[in-house]
Amino acid sequence: MQALYFCKPFRHAILEYHESLPKDHDESLLTALGDLFASISNQKKRTGVLAPKKFIERLKKDNVIFNSYMHQDAHEFFNFVVNECCEVLVKQHRREHPTPDGEETKPVKTWIHDIFEGGLTNQTQCLWCENVTSRHEAFMDLSLDIEQNASVSACLKQFSSNELLASQDKFQCDACGGLQEAHKRMLVKSSPKVLALHLKRFKYLESLGRHAKLMHRVVFPSELKIPNMTEDAEGQDAAYQLFAVVVHVGSGPNHGHYVCLVKSHGQWLTYDDDTVELMDDEAMNNFFGSTQEHSGGNTEHGYILFYERVDGAEWSGSGGGEGSRGARGGLSEALATAQQ
Ligand SMILES: [Zn+2]
Repeated sequence: MQALYFCKPFRHAILEYHESLPKDHDESLLTALGDLFASISNQKKRTGVLAPKKFIERLKKDNVIFNSYMHQDAHEFFNFVVNECCEVLVKQHRREHPTPDGEETKPVKTWIHDIFEGGLTNQTQCLWCENVTSRHEAFMDLSLDIEQNASVSACLKQFSSNELLASQDKFQCDACGGLQEAHKRMLVKSSPKVLALHLKRFKYLESLGRHAKLMHRVVFPSELKIPNMTEDAEGQDAAYQLFAVVVHVGSGPNHGHYVCLVKSHGQWLTYDDDTVELMDDEAMNNFFGSTQEHSGGNTEHGYILFYERVDGAEWSGSGGGEGSRGARGGLSEALATAQQ
């Protein structure tokens, strides 16, 4: 929730949407989120806590999965909220602009798509005739496999590495008309305004016969370029700045706790339920993971990373962030919202 609130394009758009609603509007997850964001942003007090009761009630109504006291996955929560809010806007658009009879319904792009949506190209190269078949798909976030002692850039490159389609998985090539071996890879074709990266820390391990949490050390920089874009992609050189990190605290997949790190006015803050504290930039290192699996001790790991695209001019290239430590206006924004 805090990551979404500190995602400025999303917050601004949702507040605008909230303003534009007629008094007798229908309730939805999106209107509940708008109410919550408005009550945070219109708050006069400099510090305090708001419990998102109405929003949680609505969430439980819209999705039975969240209607329990079981530990929930923050990535599933993010997906659900984003998709559900898109759905509300798409339905509204279709109501206001009905498709004439006989015409095909076109996909609707909402302002949520404008913020989170990027494009992937799924390239398959036939190893027999070398013809490349490309298929386009959209994404709202990327889920990355992780390895021990890796960087997020390395995980993104790995995401785009060639996969061999062979034996039972051969590829039906339209160019040469045969069932052939092929190389498949996914590249980023268009970069989103806000890049949400989900590190797949929860994984079924055959050796254990159950799901486990990977404590791997995965370094995420404060500034990032997408290393796996197609050559003709727009925004090839786009730089991204980290503005929020959802941290999973705990040693297993079925229990634990989430905290959120957000950058506000050049200063990192940690949100842990109703506690908000300033955090030094260097402290980010504590959330990368450990080089030794299950070494005990630290179980706080970066789990979902939020990057915002910035203009080339703002790219410092040093990876050190903008370092405007002095600006502390952020605490008036530091109203804790209870954790989901
Ligand atoms: Zn072929």
